[in-house]
Amino acid sequence: MDNPKVRVRRTNKYGKGVFAIADIRKGEVVAEFDGRFYDDSFDAWTDELREHTVQCGPTRWRDSVGVARLLNHSCEPNCGIKRLFRVVAMRDIAKGEEITWDYEMTERSSWWRMKCRCGAAGCRKVIGSYSRMPARVRRKYAGYISSWLLRGPRATPRRTATTRARRQGRRPPRSSP
Ligand SMILES: [Zn+2]
Repeated sequence: MDNPKVRVRRTNKYGKGVFAIADIRKGEVVAEFDGRFYDDSFDAWTDELREHTVQCGPTRWRDSVGVARLLNHSCEPNCGIKRLFRVVAMRDIAKGEEITWDYEMTERSSWWRMKCRCGAAGCRKVIGSYSRMPARVRRKYAGYISSWLLRGPRATPRRTATTRARRQGRRPPRSSP
């Protein structure tokens, strides 16, 4: 469920974003991915869906009913991820601030990349996969990384036709039998 202290507004750079309309304390749940699940067998992936779902397993994603799907990425975020779906304040957030998290806290694939223009001093410029996240950043985010990424080597995506399709920037077609 969305925290009542956030609202969707236009941003200067990225279209829509989510902003604090009152002070939020460290540890508060800000939003949650609480919507429909999708996996490789779904045959109607769109760019819009791909950009707004959160990865929660090697071949599994989830959308949100509320504002979570509209949260923008930052390389200097004020929120992180608890378990798989909760977006939680990593520090106190002041009224007026945009709510952000770091997409590499949940994503791991060999194909998804995004140019970042967040403007933070430590901006990594291109983000995409937790496997590329620098060690110093992982240490900073300790406790705020999606639990599916911490399960070990078995969580590595399979190298299949699926993986090839993804490298071309789209979700794979329905798995072949
Ligand atoms: Zn950045």
